[in-house]
Amino acid sequence: MINPTVEALLVLQERDTRVTALTTELENLPRQIDAVEQELETRTERFEELRNKTRQIEAERKKIDLDVQSKQAAIARYKTQQMQTRKNEEFAALNHEIEHAQKEISTLEDSELELMEAYDKGLASVAEGQKELLQFQDKAKHKKAELEKREANVSSELGGAREKQAEAEKTVPEDALSRYRRILKSKKDVAIVPIHGGACGGCHMKLTTQTVLTAKGAETLISCENCGRLVYWLE
Ligand SMILES: [Zn+2]
Repeated sequence: MINPTVEALLVLQERDTRVTALTTELENLPRQIDAVEQELETRTERFEELRNKTRQIEAERKKIDLDVQSKQAAIARYKTQQMQTRKNEEFAALNHEIEHAQKEISTLEDSELELMEAYDKGLASVAEGQKELLQFQDKAKHKKAELEKREANVSSELGGAREKQAEAEKTVPEDALSRYRRILKSKKDVAIVPIHGGACGGCHMKLTTQTVLTAKGAETLISCENCGRLVYWLE
């Protein structure tokens, strides 16, 4: 024998649980969508950083190249001056300048080679990075669309679930409803639980014989002495 109020409360509790689950999911979905967008932003920034770094390498190499060109022009000038002078000392001094500039050019060209290698590696990384980013963009787009679709579905499911919840509420006598609501508010999970082996199905503490008997009698609502949840006898 089961108390009709208990029956009504069990239906209500099931519908309450559904409303709570949908509400929680609906609250969490925007955060999940944000996380996808955030991840895409981070990956895009990281890729742009890599691309800029690679461009900088090439800019640096071009700067060194200009330096080499100006030193080569200087050498040409020195050589012209050498042809115009008749002083041995001046000729020797210009020779010294030419050798010095040639050494500098050689050092600069070594750096240029290193930078060219680094640039090639950079270009390969940029190509790889771009491929990965495009793949992720595609993945993120789908994930976002999926989450947005879920959001719309949950939102409409929640509307239906709330209607059913309201219908179930109408079948519960007012005093029992306020008692149930009070317990649910403090316990968060469930307000009415079955008795299992003489213990409360909520807190699992042993119930007194009197409580079990009252629940079995099914004439009045009875609470667990420990947690306060309503308990009922499950035949
Ligand atoms: Zn209990």
